[in-house]
Amino acid sequence: MSSNQYPISAIQQIIKAGGNIVKEYNISSLITDSRRIGNAAEGLFFALSGRRNGHEFIAEAYAAGVRNFVVKEGPQLIMPEANFLIVTDVLQALQTLAAHHRSSFNLDVIGITGSNGKTIVKEWLYQLLCTDKNIVRNPKSYNSQIGVPLSVWQINVKNNLGIFEAGISTRNEMVRLETIIRPSIGVLTHIGTAHDEGFASRDEKVKEKLLLFKNCRLLIHNYEQLMDFKEDISVKDCFTWSTKFKQADLYVFSETVIKRNTYLRARYKGDEIECLIPFMDGASVENAIVCWAVMLAMGYSAAETDDRIEHLNPVSMRLELKTGINDCSVIDDSYNSDVQSLEIALNFLNQQNQHTKKTLILSDIFQSGLQPDVLYKQVAEMIKAKHVDKFVGVGKALSKYQEDFDIPVKHFYPDTPSMLQHLRALNFKEETILIKGSRSFEFESISRALVQKAHETVMEINLNAMVNNLNFYRSKLKPGVKVMAMVKAFSYGSGTFEVANILQYNKVDYLAVAYIDEGVALRKTGITLPVMVLNPEASAFDKLTEYNLEPVIYSFGLFDDYIKYARQQNVLDYPVHLKIDTGMHRLGFENFEVETLCDLLEENRYVNIRSVFSHLVASDAAEHDEFTKTQVRNFEKAFKLIEKALGYKVIRHLCNTSGIVRWPNAQYDMVRLGIGLYGIDAATPATENGLQPIASLKTSVSQVKNITNGDTISYNRSGKLGNNGKIATVRIGYADGYLRAFGNGVGKMLVKGTLVPTVGNITMDMCMLDVSDIDVKEGDEVIVFNEQQRIEALAEQIGTIPYEILTNISQRVKRVYFYE
Ligand SMILES: *Cc1c(COP(=O)(O)O)cnc(C)c1O
Repeated sequence: MSSNQYPISAIQQIIKAGGNIVKEYNISSLITDSRRIGNAAEGLFFALSGRRNGHEFIAEAYAAGVRNFVVKEGPQLIMPEANFLIVTDVLQALQTLAAHHRSSFNLDVIGITGSNGKTIVKEWLYQLLCTDKNIVRNPKSYNSQIGVPLSVWQINVKNNLGIFEAGISTRNEMVRLETIIRPSIGVLTHIGTAHDEGFASRDEKVKEKLLLFKNCRLLIHNYEQLMDFKEDISVKDCFTWSTKFKQADLYVFSETVIKRNTYLRARYKGDEIECLIPFMDGASVENAIVCWAVMLAMGYSAAETDDRIEHLNPVSMRLELKTGINDCSVIDDSYNSDVQSLEIALNFLNQQNQHTKKTLILSDIFQSGLQPDVLYKQVAEMIKAKHVDKFVGVGKALSKYQEDFDIPVKHFYPDTPSMLQHLRALNFKEETILIKGSRSFEFESISRALVQKAHETVMEINLNAMVNNLNFYRSKLKPGVKVMAMVKAFSYGSGTFEVANILQYNKVDYLAVAYIDEGVALRKTGITLPVMVLNPEASAFDKLTEYNLEPVIYSFGLFDDYIKYARQQNVLDYPVHLKIDTGMHRLGFENFEVETLCDLLEENRYVNIRSVFSHLVASDAAEHDEFTKTQVRNFEKAFKLIEKALGYKVIRHLCNTSGIVRWPNAQYDMVRLGIGLYGIDAATPATENGLQPIASLKTSVSQVKNITNGDTISYNRSGKLGNNGKIATVRIGYADGYLRAFGNGVGKMLVKGTLVPTVGNITMDMCMLDVSDIDVKEGDEVIVFNEQQRIEALAEQIGTIPYEILTNISQRVKRVYFYE
């Protein structure tokens, strides 16, 4: 989104591209993802090659109305009135264009890098400085080689300050970002271990990061962090802060927690100054000190700085997807509202197809740097382009410009209370609702009214991590190998349509479920991908064909049943999969049965075999590798016979998650990705495989009790603590999936960062923890598993496998999905 325009012919010169301009267009928006096309007519599509080759999506973008493309190779098809700018490196072209755009503005730019805290510091500086500056900044954490150019492209003439973060994961990336951002003021945040693997040493990583500052006139950094790097800093004017060294410009010598705030005292230019930070955790305090230092270094007075920092708000970059009232789904983004993040949230809304109706509740947008008439026209166009069906505008400005909104159903209210009064009349039902409001509108109250209430144990699912895991396995596939995502058993406990919609959006080729019902549920929530059903019941074949689900045939009995049904209903050429048993001895035709099977298949009009597959019993276990090889051989034998009998091509697949990496030669035409999507792979240690856990299970403390000698805890007096013990009762029990086996100290949970054991038996809805040594209150959060206390560890505690832990979490536990 930008009010800048460049003629395509000018862009051709800027990026020094070949190709003929067949028609002149004005370009205002840069497109890097064919699924996210806002203003197609003024869009320029960059065919970037990442995990997928962007050139594959040119036809899709053309169909959506895009007429201008930056490519390595011209198109295969004829596309009238389209311009193809030909370059050798498409990413570089994007970066060159952004760098050119940046260089035509003479504004101050703050450039931020570091391993942690970049996005928070950027957002906080925005909060602190937006009262007297017109600021442009990266949306969310768009700080990559692609994200930075897209962010910088938004600079317009009204802006007088840019705040851009730069993230790098390996060598030689920072120089490119520096030429795009061209910061005049540099800020270095905390440097930790993130991305160490991309560099030869920690030193090298720090030096690479410092390259962002090579043209800065001022650099703000922690004193001790760069003590060993004096020679590598070319900036003349450095402003340092420290909690340890008196020599720093801002020496913070005292830190006191007062009622959830942190009160800091520091020495600055010979004076003692103070600052109240509305946070108490270490990372927030450090990030706030960085902001404090930046404001002082920029010349703001200590009093003004303190006044603004006291009002800092937490930064939430997450979009949360929750179950709403009346079968609605609610996407909750009630804390920030600007044009860029609105576009991102609308894209997320469009990824969720469980309801046909899409609704947006939006408040007035502040500090956009645009005149209201221009701003709301832009907003109206954007939400029309994103196919919002129902629009609820809250605020005086939106109400004033309501004529601009060309949406099938629209309602306007001057403020949040008046909207809440009309909640019933708005009749929210079976729709996906995006709630997006500026903080002062307090849209939390709308979210509370629309989200279904549940007891306080929730499982949070990180959808970004799931996409990351999908891409990790994609990167391990040979070219052309398809992905079937296994979403059986509520996607391994992590949800149904929410997960399936994300997978569909990210273009997996197939989904698989265990039973017909599971497939029907997916179809009812907008899933159009082919769906294979592993264990179809003959009694529900009508549902199978009605919902276009593809059965696995694994025995002669089932084959017979199916053919009978198909003949009766006259269903011809129906897609069917065949399962071969090569050693699992669960379901499937055995090798000796394959010839008979082939006889049945020849000339069979009722089935069209889509795929033939088998399942490895120990793809992750080196000690069974010989057996795996036998399975591979048996499978190949069976497959050859079947393919010959059929006389047409079918998909061949064998590998589950662990097989993908360990048995690359058995990837064939497709792989079946299960537990790996959910961040777990038994074949490689968690720290090495680049996977991210996707689920966190959280609960809370209902009561805290002191225990004296002789007291016992839970049923059958199973638990005991010594004198002065203390227990916390938490809201999770075996009915939620926290098995009884975790009782009596076997299981541990994280409370305030400390692992504490269970005491006594686990009960149906609750259990007790030994919190003798920590400071706990009712309502405090308790973590059953997350990325720190991993599911793998829980599985080990009770001698099971992660699959069982995940799929045991009961449906009573509310799932909340988030997307950053
Ligand atoms: C569940 C399942 C998979 C997935 O296995 P993971 O180990 O979770 O990757 C693959 N194939 C079949 C037939 C399955 O039932």
